[in-house]
Amino acid sequence: MKVIIIGAGIAGLATALSLQQYGIDYEIFEGRPDATDVGAGIWLAPNGLEVLNRINPELLQEIQSSGSVVDELAVTYKGKPLSRLSMVDIERDFGFRHVTIHRSKLNQLLEKHLKNKVHYNKELSSLKEGTNEITVSFSDGSSATGDIVLGCDGIHSRVRSLAFDNVPIRYSGQTCWRAIVNYKVKENYQGKFYEQWHKKPGLRVGYAPINADQVYIFLTSLSQAGIKSTPETVINELHGLFDDFAFDVKAIIDASKAEDWIRKDIIDFKPLNRWHQGRICLLGDAVHATTPNMGQGGNQALESAIYLAKQLAEQRNHVEAFEAFQHFRKQKTDGVTQNSWQFGKLNNMGQGIMRNLVLGLVASVPERFNRKQLKKQYDLGW
Ligand SMILES: Cc1cc2nc3c(=O)[nH]c(=O)nc-3n(C[C@H](O)[C@H](O)[C@H](O)COP(=O)(O)OP(=O)(O)OC[C@H]3O[C@@H](n4cnc5c(N)ncnc54)[C@H](O)[C@@H]3O)c2cc1C
Repeated sequence: MKVIIIGAGIAGLATALSLQQYGIDYEIFEGRPDATDVGAGIWLAPNGLEVLNRINPELLQEIQSSGSVVDELAVTYKGKPLSRLSMVDIERDFGFRHVTIHRSKLNQLLEKHLKNKVHYNKELSSLKEGTNEITVSFSDGSSATGDIVLGCDGIHSRVRSLAFDNVPIRYSGQTCWRAIVNYKVKENYQGKFYEQWHKKPGLRVGYAPINADQVYIFLTSLSQAGIKSTPETVINELHGLFDDFAFDVKAIIDASKAEDWIRKDIIDFKPLNRWHQGRICLLGDAVHATTPNMGQGGNQALESAIYLAKQLAEQRNHVEAFEAFQHFRKQKTDGVTQNSWQFGKLNNMGQGIMRNLVLGLVASVPERFNRKQLKKQYDLGW
């Protein structure tokens, strides 16, 4: 079997690595001109780390040593915890502590272990399904043929729009700025992942060092959809919104350069009922996109990658493999998408006294409920 993978993000690269493990032939095509330019930081949770370990323990070690292994993770309000995770407990229960890493570093490490090179500058433009094969064509006029196509091309998937009904994108009401900033966090913040909420709804900051000299930071605010920040105004805009946050948020914004910041509206779409069609199957954000409130989109992409590869290796044909893949994975990813959406709504909610009530509610969630939720998220189930 020859598998055509569209998109060399986390889903595409991890799927290629897993197919490789099972000895299945693949070719991977990416629209970007090269491996650079893939966003800011990413937070890998125990489920994603377990996947990477199953793909290749050496790869996992490289990722752990190229990023920052988290030793404390907390959501705070005015310096007081709304929720806190003990990494000792997480490691005991789920095998790994979270890791924060530069996205381009993660992609580089995944790509390094591929036997077949990624074909860059290959933007998918059309698909043609025959009786025994499927052909993809690219905007440079070239094409490729295989037995099946896996759409790993992200939330605005071209594969999805060519082969499935139109999917309405939902805007969460929040926009997000992300950056990797050259900034040495104080000694006592090394190894920490802190998210701070604010009395104003929608305002939120999360940051974690990714190494001794750089920090990954994200900042969210309520906003109309589609508004852009310009290099001339972005730093002032961020100071205006986020200077009264605790810890060293103001200092991190000061240390940043305008070009460090990527602004994107936070979007997803409602869970889809059909993940595959003929010789085409979707995975990652192309089919189970989620808002980033639970830091699970990339981790779920990793889970889907190895599960789909296993089905392709073990089922009698691609139709049975796609069915088994959707059957097993959909319940979990639907839950992540919905819970993450609700969590974002909580952060957007309430003014004045109502806001205090919302924050009180978040702080009062019993530890055993949180643990149950974590088990659902971090357990691969196979
Ligand atoms: C602000 C923010 C923070 C996040 N933080 C986290 C986090 O901490 N942890 C976590 O697990 N997840 C996080 N996520 C979610 C995570 O980024 C995504 O779930 C993950 O990147 C999905 O991977 P993917 O490979 O499916 O899609 P993508 O990463 O979008 O990759 C798709 C690839 O396909 C390529 N492509 C697109 N169209 C075409 C085409 N026509 N032809 C060829 N190639 C094409 C793109 O160039 C891209 O390389 C966050 C998301 C956001 C927005």
